[in-house]
Order: sequence, then structure tokens, then C-alpha cells
Amino acid sequence: MTPTLALEQLMLHPLYGDLIGQIRAVTPTAHLDQDDAAAGHATQIMTAAAGPTLGTTDTHRLDPGDAPGWLRLGLLDTWIRWTTGTADTCRHQPTHDRPQPVIAAAWKPGLVVCPDCAMLTAAPRTADTTCDACGHQCGDLASGGGIYAGMVQLGPLIYQYGTCADCRPAITEQSSPPSATHTPEPATPRGTGRGRAGRPHNRRRRPR
Ligand SMILES: [Zn+2]
Ligand SMILES: [Zn+2]
Repeated sequence: MTPTLALEQLMLHPLYGDLIGQIRAVTPTAHLDQDDAAAGHATQIMTAAAGPTLGTTDTHRLDPGDAPGWLRLGLLDTWIRWTTGTADTCRHQPTHDRPQPVIAAAWKPGLVVCPDCAMLTAAPRTADTTCDACGHQCGDLASGGGIYAGMVQLGPLIYQYGTCADCRPAITEQSSPPSATHTPEPATPRGTGRGRAGRPHNRRRRPR
């Protein structure tokens, strides 16, 4: 089993929330404060970006099982790559042991950048109308297409995605463990000619 699948299995376990609570209880306060501050800052960045780019500032916590598999695995694979030092990064080389918000995108797998370098996650023009779930070419708004953009957040990591109408995640707000996820519901389809740099996230504490 790959680390990504192992992490997914752990997060989908019914006692995952209890586990995170126990881990937090024995984690030094200084570390928790730094991690929580980075995650909080990431939420602020996500919310600020979601307004102009997604047409909503609504973010809410998610249970890991709320996200569709392709999105959850994409997020977790990015998380694993980043925390194991195998992700490509911007020149500022953000690492998980120096808590700070970082940004990634489904259409740039394995790339994790700092907020100042978010433009590096902009979708290439050819991929700007491609559904990240099924690969469908959505076309532009004028022809009845468009991309539904969204973001999920895991700890300090913001992960952007875009889907066709059929693959749009039905993410609903519900109670969640301390590790919860955040996701602004993508409110409007995005057409071509507009960068996808401001797309979505899902937030959850990482296991330590
Ligand atoms: Zn950077
Ligand atoms: Zn699709």
C-alpha cells in the first residue's frame, strides 16, 4: 500500500477524529500553536481568494469521506509528496517543518508553492477547461461549458481543483473531528480565458 492510500485509509477510519484528538493532547503547545496559526492563515488566504475567483466566501469543515475519491487522493498525494520532501516547490522551498500556508493545484501534480508564488499554479491555457476528475474538455461559458472551481484545505495546504458540472463535488457542511476540512462551495462555473489560480480547498489536520 502506498503512503497516500495508507493515509486515506487512516483518515476514513471512524476513530480518526479521536486519534487526532489524542495526538494533539500530547503534542507540545508551541508546535500546536505554530501549526494552527499556519492552518488559520491558509484559511484566510483561501477565503480571500474565493471571493473574487469563486464568487463565494463560504468555507466549512469537511469530514474526509465528504470529498470524492479523486479529490481526496489528489490532496493526500500532494500532502505526502510535500511532507516527505519529494514535491517540487517554488524557490522559497516551503517545508512542513516550518509551518506556513502553501498552495497546490490538481492540474500541477506534485508542485507546492508559497503564497507569494501562487502564480506558478496557474493552469496552462490548454488545461484551463479540463475537468480534473474525468478529463472532460468543458469548453467556455459562451458555448454552455465552463469549469466549476473549488479549493480544499488540509492543515496549511490549499489545493485547487476544477470540474465539469457532472463531477462537481457535492460537499456539504457537517460536524467533524478536530482535523476537519474546509471547502468553499464553488458557486459559479469558470470559463476559459480566466486563470484558474484562485480555485479551491479541503482542510484537515495531519496526523503526527
Ligand atoms: Zn515562493
Ligand atoms: Zn468531469
